Amino acid sequence: MAGILFIISAPSGSGKSTLVSQLRSMVEGLEFSISYTTRPSRGSEENGREYHFTSREEFERMIATGDFLEWAEVFGNYYGTALSALDHAKEAGKDLLLDIDVQGAVQVMKKLPEAVSIFILPPSPEVLEMRLRNRSAAEKMTSETVIQKRLAEARNELKQVWDYKYALVNDVLEQAVAEMRAIVLYERSAREAVETLAKSCRTDAASPKLRAVLNAFGG
Ligand code: ADP
Ligand code: 5GP
Repeated sequence: MAGILFIISAPSGSGKSTLVSQLRSMVEGLEFSISYTTRPSRGSEENGREYHFTSREEFERMIATGDFLEWAEVFGNYYGTALSALDHAKEAGKDLLLDIDVQGAVQVMKKLPEAVSIFILPPSPEVLEMRLRNRSAAEKMTSETVIQKRLAEARNELKQVWDYKYALVNDVLEQAVAEMRAIVLYERSAREAVETLAKSCRTDAASPKLRAVLNAFGG
């Protein structure tokens, strides 16, 4: 495995978590980075599974000690990716998936330009609003103000789509999952092909072509 970093961003409610969880059940070798956040857990979320839930004080201490690859304030709470997530995935020989907002994504793109960025769009504002409402009804917690804030924020975030390498519309779930899977497999195969070609040119691989030329020169 090449150790590819996939950045996935989407306006809240677009279906990113749903897509990512389906993708992970279909594609081997993908590790999901568990972010740190100061927001309280919702629904059935567990500490250490969806997020590492932490206090503002602890988060600020981590910023000060340089523990984060990126961090941002989203909807009044801190969210961040620990640098250790990269090492962990590398040691495990896996590709790493970051589910982060557009501010965090821009930071990672600058630091690690080889990262593969994917933006997920909802099919329309109406569908996004419906998904936000359905989810909040299921979790019995999100207020009307929060829904309105997320809808307004979605319009802003969509402007960043052109900074990403890929964009897909999560309309029919199966189609969106297939597109995301195709992106992951394509990026892997493209890098593997390049790696194989580069390795074949290494002098310590001493390819037959290299030997033949040297022989012809009497070496
Ligand atoms: P996000 O992680 O982007 O905030 P979620 O994955 O929680 O979004 O999805 C928001 C809501 O939309 C959930 O109730 C989810 O079941 C639903 N949903 C996600 N994708 C689709 C889809 N393609 N079609 C219909 N409903 C969807
Ligand atoms: P939620 O609270 O709905 O789980 O997430 C809100 C937003 O925070 C989403 O856009 C999500 O992608 C983003 N987010 C989650 N983890 C991180 C992170 O580690 N860094 C950044 N920058 N954003 C994150």
